[in-house]
Amino acid sequence: MFGPDRFAARLHDVSLEDLCAGGIRGLIVDLDNTLMGFRESELGGEHVAWVEEAHARGMRIVMLSNNFSERVSSVAARLGVGCIPNALKPLPFGFMRAVRALQLPRRAVAVVGDQLFTDVLGGKLCGLYTILTEPIEAKDFAVTRLFRFFERVLLPERRLP
Ligand SMILES: [Mg+2]
Repeated sequence: MFGPDRFAARLHDVSLEDLCAGGIRGLIVDLDNTLMGFRESELGGEHVAWVEEAHARGMRIVMLSNNFSERVSSVAARLGVGCIPNALKPLPFGFMRAVRALQLPRRAVAVVGDQLFTDVLGGKLCGLYTILTEPIEAKDFAVTRLFRFFERVLLPERRLP
């Protein structure tokens, strides 16, 4: 129930070729510690390139974040993707809004994020394919640090060598 469908070290390690081959046409991507470090304000070039490759493959992307709108919308604008801030993940409403924005059936949508209890759990509640990445930075909100503890308990195999 809890495990993601796939693990990846970083967002740009997620193989777009594999996802396309598996029928995935749309992506719901987390912002903090997935696309960008928790305290960073600049996007990494490899993540910009990953988003460009996804677009070149005809994939659609919506950013879904629990963070406030100014930060989320400025990053989304730089990447040319849609965004839904204040998403209240893992509640399903934001995920369902994202699926509607992608205009794709749920079986064609994958969620990518660094947190088991927001990104993966919410994606699974909505019947979406889920990919768990390693967080970019160790620094997190206090509540996230608590979730990290339970992630380690539930997913001891997560840490990559
Ligand atoms: Mg995150």
